[in-house]
Amino acid sequence: MRKKFICGNWKMFAPAWEGEIPAFAENKIVAVAPPFTELSRMSERLKGTGIKLAAQNVYFKDNGAYTGEISAEMLKNLGVSYCIVGHSERRGYFGETDEDCLKKIEKLAEYGIAAILCVGESLETREAGDEYKFVGTQVEAIFENISPAAAENIVVAYEPIWAIGTGKTASAEQAQEMCAHIRATIAACKGSDYADGVLIQYGGSVKPSNAAELLGMEDIDGALVGGASLEPASFMDIVNY
Ligand code: PEP
Repeated sequence: MRKKFICGNWKMFAPAWEGEIPAFAENKIVAVAPPFTELSRMSERLKGTGIKLAAQNVYFKDNGAYTGEISAEMLKNLGVSYCIVGHSERRGYFGETDEDCLKKIEKLAEYGIAAILCVGESLETREAGDEYKFVGTQVEAIFENISPAAAENIVVAYEPIWAIGTGKTASAEQAQEMCAHIRATIAACKGSDYADGVLIQYGGSVKPSNAAELLGMEDIDGALVGGASLEPASFMDIVNY
């Protein structure tokens, strides 16, 4: 039985996250990914809540002259358990490639940090009817090449770019179909026993009002939540959908 995993992505926002943080069921995994500069404060804030700390990015080198970058070891030392990799904003604005994603996933695994690999198509790709091929290729680029150690600790997030920050959610059926396609693609790379255990989240304008329908689908094992995670009450309403 796969657990439900809900992760908030604050992007380049740093909300105070004031007020009480409601409890959640033990069979769920919950994490929040604040900007790098907020990781330390949030690790204090989240103490005793059961909510894990996630990062939004990492560099794939151990250390060195890489101005502005942060290593997996640095994240580990701050208590980070998960790291988002290949978010469409990083692929689109910062030129992150599938090869970069694989290197980051492997480096995170060396430090015991689980990657949340984001995949998803643009509106143009969907309108051209190429969304399954496009997302399948992103998934294969990782799962055909991933090491056994990194494969043990990876989550996939299906995030259609047209649904991120737009208020336009994929229908539960559209999200389910693509998550099932992702699982089948992973199975083709690594076998169905393995694929059946991989957590696959949906992300794209998830909010308290649509969480139950999306997370009730067979192949949707959780959510990656942007805007609705900036305030603990709405985020926890999604967690406790
Ligand atoms: C995201 O940032 O990954 C995301 C899904 O954002 P939003 O929930 O705001 O659409």
